[in-house]
Amino acid sequence: MGDAPYFVTLDEALDICKKTTLKNSVDIVHLDNAHNRILAEDLPSLVDDPPFDNSAMDGFAMRHKDTLNPPTDLKIIGTIQASGDQENITVNQGEAVRIMTGAPMPEGADSILQVELTSCSGETLTISQESMPGYVRKKGENIRKGDIILLKGTVLTPSNISMAATMGYNMIPVFSKLVIGIIPTGNELRQPGEDLKPGEIYESNAYGISGLVKWLGHIPKRYDLVEDTMNRTRESLDRASEECDLIITSGGVSMGDWDLIRKIMEEEGDIHFWRIKLRPGSPPLFGKWKDTPIFGLPGNPVSSHVVFRMLVGPWIRNLTHSTNPSENKAFATLATTVKPSKDFLTLRRVKVESTDNELKAYQESHQGSGNIASMALSDALVILHPGKEYSIGDIVEIMYL
Ligand code: AMP
Ligand code: MG
Repeated sequence: MGDAPYFVTLDEALDICKKTTLKNSVDIVHLDNAHNRILAEDLPSLVDDPPFDNSAMDGFAMRHKDTLNPPTDLKIIGTIQASGDQENITVNQGEAVRIMTGAPMPEGADSILQVELTSCSGETLTISQESMPGYVRKKGENIRKGDIILLKGTVLTPSNISMAATMGYNMIPVFSKLVIGIIPTGNELRQPGEDLKPGEIYESNAYGISGLVKWLGHIPKRYDLVEDTMNRTRESLDRASEECDLIITSGGVSMGDWDLIRKIMEEEGDIHFWRIKLRPGSPPLFGKWKDTPIFGLPGNPVSSHVVFRMLVGPWIRNLTHSTNPSENKAFATLATTVKPSKDFLTLRRVKVESTDNELKAYQESHQGSGNIASMALSDALVILHPGKEYSIGDIVEIMYL
C-alpha cells in the first residue's frame, strides 16, 4: 500500500480524486447533436430576446389612453402578421391595428386587447374593456444581447438547447465525451445469456456502470470479463489505459488473496487512496495505471453502483465543471427505522412516497450489498451521517436513484 491514505471519508476521497485532472478537449457541435452534452464555454446572447416589441396575443394593438371609458369604438386601419415584411403602420388616436401573436407592435400603440374581448363590424372595432399594456412583450425583456444565461458546465437539456437557438447559436462548444473503460473481474462471472455452471453468477456490474457512464453523457467501453490472474489483469489494464481516458474496474479490491486489482495496483500501479468510510461501498481504491486514472470499484453490485453515484460521478462532473444534472436530492420524512453506522456514511435503499404535504421514505427491502434487487425496487438512497441517531418522523436527505 505504500503511503497512500487508507480508509478516508467520502469528502477526503473526493478531494484526493480532484487532484487528478484530465485534459478537456472541446467539440463544436450542431444543436441537433447537443442533447445531454456539457457546454464548454459561457454563451453570451447574440441578440435581444425578444428582438423587438411584439404582441403576446392574437387581437388588436391600440393606444391605452383611448380605451379608458369602454365600450368604445375604434377604427381598424390595418393588419400586422408575425412576419418580417411589415409596412410601416402608425396608430393614432381612435385607431387600432389587427395583430397576430408575436407580430411587431406598430408605431404609436402601447397595448393589446385580445380578439375574444372585441367585436368587429366592417372597419369598426368595438371594445368592451380597457386594453392591456401587459400583453406587449418588450424588446429584450427575456434576455439582452450579451447576457449569459448558459454557463460553461451546463448540461444541455432540451430547454437549454432551445435557449441556445433563441440566442442565435447553431453550433456550440461542448466538452468532448470521455471514453471510460469498464473492466469486470472475477473467475465466477459469466455473461448473461450463457449457461451457469456450479459456482458461477452472471456479470451485472459492467452493464450497470455502463448505464451510469451514459447517464453522465460519456462513452462506456465495456471490456471482456477478466479472470483472476495477474497476467490477465495486467493485459486488460494496459489495453484500457491505451484506449480510454479513465478506467473503472469491478471486483478484486478487498483484502482477499484473489483481490488482484488491489494487489496489482499495490505492486505495479499508483494508489492514491484505498477504502472509504462508506456503507455500502467501503473497499474502493483510486489511483493511476500508467498515466490513466483508475477507480477500483467493489464487486458487490449495490456497492459499485453506490460508489459510482457518490464518488465517481461527482469527480467526473467536477472535471467538466458540470452544473447539472446534479444529484437529484430532496428531504423526506422517515416512515420506518433505518440503521446508521457509527463511523461510516451509510446509504439505505428506500421507497419514496409523495403525499399531500411531504415525501415519505421507508425501507422495505433486505439491505445486503449483493442484493441488486434492493436497488431496482427502491426509489432513492437515504443519506445517514456517521454517529447520528435516526428515528421515525425525522427529516432525512434522500438521493433519487
Ligand atoms: P469481489 O469484490 O471481487 O470480492 O466481489 C464481491 C462480490 O461481488 C462477490 O460475491 C462477487 O461474486 C460479486 N461480483 C463481483 N463482480 C461482479 C460483477 N461484475 N457482477 C456481479 N457480481 C459481481
Ligand atoms: Mg472477485
